Amino acid sequence: MKRGYFGSFGGQFIPETLVTPLGELEREFLGAWKDASFQKELRYYLENYAGRPTALYFARRLTEKFGGPKIYLKREDLCHTGSHKLNNALGQVLLARRLGKKRVIAETGAGQHGVATATAAALFGIECDVYMGDEDIRRQALNVFRMQLMGARVIPVHSGSKTLKDAINEALRDWVTNVAGTFYVIGSVMGPYPYPLMVRQFQSVIGIETRKQILKKEGRLPSHVLACVGGGSNAMGMFAPFYNDRKVKLIGLEAKGAATLSYGKIGVLHGMKTYVLQDKHGQISETHSISAGLDYPGVGPEHSFYKETKRADYFPVSDKEALEGFTLLSKLEGIIPALESAHTIGYLPKLAPRLSKKDIIVICLSGRGDKDADSVRSLVPVKGQP
Ligand SMILES: *Cc1c(COP(=O)(O)O)cnc(C)c1O
Repeated sequence: MKRGYFGSFGGQFIPETLVTPLGELEREFLGAWKDASFQKELRYYLENYAGRPTALYFARRLTEKFGGPKIYLKREDLCHTGSHKLNNALGQVLLARRLGKKRVIAETGAGQHGVATATAAALFGIECDVYMGDEDIRRQALNVFRMQLMGARVIPVHSGSKTLKDAINEALRDWVTNVAGTFYVIGSVMGPYPYPLMVRQFQSVIGIETRKQILKKEGRLPSHVLACVGGGSNAMGMFAPFYNDRKVKLIGLEAKGAATLSYGKIGVLHGMKTYVLQDKHGQISETHSISAGLDYPGVGPEHSFYKETKRADYFPVSDKEALEGFTLLSKLEGIIPALESAHTIGYLPKLAPRLSKKDIIVICLSGRGDKDADSVRSLVPVKGQP
């Protein structure tokens, strides 16, 4: 495969000033990844701070409800700060420290990656600036306050649709200007190479643990592995360790209003060649999803490669189906999922009835739903509410 590419996807579509820094980043990351002392330190914080390994939980009542395949949940919602995002933020901030950078920047949509980066920055005493669209600042007030509590500065972005893609543009602009002393912590398997590779490696801990755990519990691999796809980092972290297990079906679920792999076309966005939601003039489309974390018109290039080579299948899930998944898991298992993760549960009524009792589904439950409680309050009826 050509350096920096996954098949024909990925690459570096960037201003000249970033060529050298990205080359350095690649070298430093590959060096750190092979360095036993870096791995040891990363493992130390993943275990003692983030709370890994996370549980692989047999969802008995959810399984009984569908009456067919066994359903397991990989509990990334139990990770410190409430989602898988910290796996990557810890890795990149440790790398920033190794490179002697005194400042990190990040972009955030729902605020989860901003919170994870602010957390890791507080842990190591590094200055942290987070770019966030005005619209998202309004929607995610709690996460804004969490970041500020931990000492990060949240910088509002007023351009475009005032959401994630605009925040990424601003963060890239900052990095171009301040590249010498600043490390840009990207929140998903996206952006110019080597970010998609680096973030995948940091998130692969999800799939590596899952593979071991399911072999121990069931003595065999799952038949189906499900994950939601925004930029695609929890999905890629889960999928990659199963890549060579050709019998394991990999299924990515996208928000219907931002279903890049289902409805997009190949283009260039945020430094990478990948599937993009765009109109016939190549203008990036506005996306709409109930879950801010899936509301992104691009997708990590390795997912485009998985789609093109048919190693994974990707399907859209509507807001309504996701909300049904949200309440179903809450009621049956006492687990309130993030709205992003709820898209995987919302797909079960389509998938589970087609499978048999011999099948095993593993779901990457990417995060917990506390952050979403306010925004869905008016949409889901509960007992005792007028
Ligand atoms: C950010 C987020 C996502 C989407 O990001 P990916 O890179 O696609 O994983 C999904 N679930 C949760 C809980 C998130 O916070």
